[in-house]
Amino acid sequence: MPLDQPEQQTVLVDKFDRVHSDLRISVTDRCNFRCAYCMPEEGMTWVDRADLLSFEEIERITALLVNRAGVSSVRLTGGEPTIRARLPLLVAKLSKLRVRATGDPIDISMTTNGATLALIADDLYQAGLRRLNVSLDTLDSERFLELTRRDELTRVLEGIDAAVEAGFSPVKVNAVLMRGINHDEVSRFLQLGRDKGVTIRFIEFMPLDAQGEWTEERVVSRAEILEQAAADFDFEPLERGSSPAERFGYRDASPGSPGSEFGIIASVTEPFCESCDRMRLSAEGQLRNCLFGLDHVDLRDIMRNGGSDDELLAAVAGEVDRKWAGHAIGQVHFIRPSKSMSQLGG
Ligand code: SAM
Ligand code: SF4
Repeated sequence: MPLDQPEQQTVLVDKFDRVHSDLRISVTDRCNFRCAYCMPEEGMTWVDRADLLSFEEIERITALLVNRAGVSSVRLTGGEPTIRARLPLLVAKLSKLRVRATGDPIDISMTTNGATLALIADDLYQAGLRRLNVSLDTLDSERFLELTRRDELTRVLEGIDAAVEAGFSPVKVNAVLMRGINHDEVSRFLQLGRDKGVTIRFIEFMPLDAQGEWTEERVVSRAEILEQAAADFDFEPLERGSSPAERFGYRDASPGSPGSEFGIIASVTEPFCESCDRMRLSAEGQLRNCLFGLDHVDLRDIMRNGGSDDELLAAVAGEVDRKWAGHAIGQVHFIRPSKSMSQLGG
C-alpha cells in the first residue's frame, strides 16, 4: 500500500442500523467488594493474571477501533477497575487517542465503587480521566455492610468528595434500587446529590446477579422512583439526547450547575436497546455486543495468535453484526446470561 493511502475505515453498524461508537473495557474481573446483586460472597473463580489483557493489548484494540472504526467514547469498568495495578498508566495511554472525525480527545470515563478513590482520584485526573461514576446503593451503614459485605460506606463518601475536589465533572453516583433492601432511599440520595454537587442516577435492577436472585417484583421501576422523588423535590424533564439516562432538572437550581439534575436508567421497564451503541470487552479479551448477549468473539486469541489489525476489525464488525434487537427481559424467550455483571464488564 502506498504510504499516503489512508487506512481503510470500518463502520460498526448492525442489522438494525445502530452504529457502535462506545466501548466498555473491563480491566479486571476482581473486586474488593462482594455486592450481593453482583457476586457471591465466596466461590468466585477469577481469570488467571496471564489471561488478562495487558495494557498494550487494551491499547491496541482501543486505538484500532478509535482510528479505524469510529469509536469515540471509552468507559473503564470491571470488576473494580481501581484495583488493577498502575491504572493511571492505562488512562494516560488511552487519553491520548483522538476522535478521527474531529481531532478531539476521546470521551474517557470510569465506573468505580469509590472505595479507593480518595487515594487515586488525583492520579487518575492527572492521567487525563475527566468523568467518573461512583456506584453507591445505600446511605445507611448497616445496609451498606449487608449489600456489599464490606464496612466501607465512609470511605466511599470520602471518595466521592475526593473526586469532586480533584476536578472530575460531572461526578455521577449510580444507585441500584431493590425492593425490600433500599427501595425507600430515593430522597436521601437526591439530597446527597444536591449537598455534594453530584448527579444521582438510579438504575433499575437487572437479571445479571451471580446468585440468580433477581425477580421482576424486586425491580424498583422508573415510575416508582419518580413518585418518591416528587414527594420531596420539584423538578422537570430535561432533554435526553443520546444518553440512556432520562434526565430531570431541579426547578430551583441553575441549569448545568453541579448537582442540578438527576437521572433514571430504566433498563428493565423502558429499555433503550433501539439506540444502543455499546460494545463490551471483558478483562480476558472477549468482546460482546450486549450485556445479555449469549455469545462473544475472543480478541485476545486473535492477538496472541499473531492476528493482524484487519483480522481484529473483521472480528469486531462480525460481533456487532450479530447483535439482537433487544434483551427481552420479562418476555418468555428471555435467556439469562451465564455470567454476572462483574465478569461481563458492567
Ligand atoms: N466495580 C465497579 C462498580 O461497582 O461501579 C464497576 C463494575 S460494576 C459491575 C458496574 C455497575 O454494575 C455498578 O454500577 C453496579 O451497581 C452495576 N450492577 C451490578 N450488578 C447489577 C445488577 N444485577 N443490576 C443492575 N446493575 C448492576
Ligand atoms: Fe464489585 Fe462493582 Fe460488582 Fe460491587 S458491583 S461486587 S463493586 S464489581
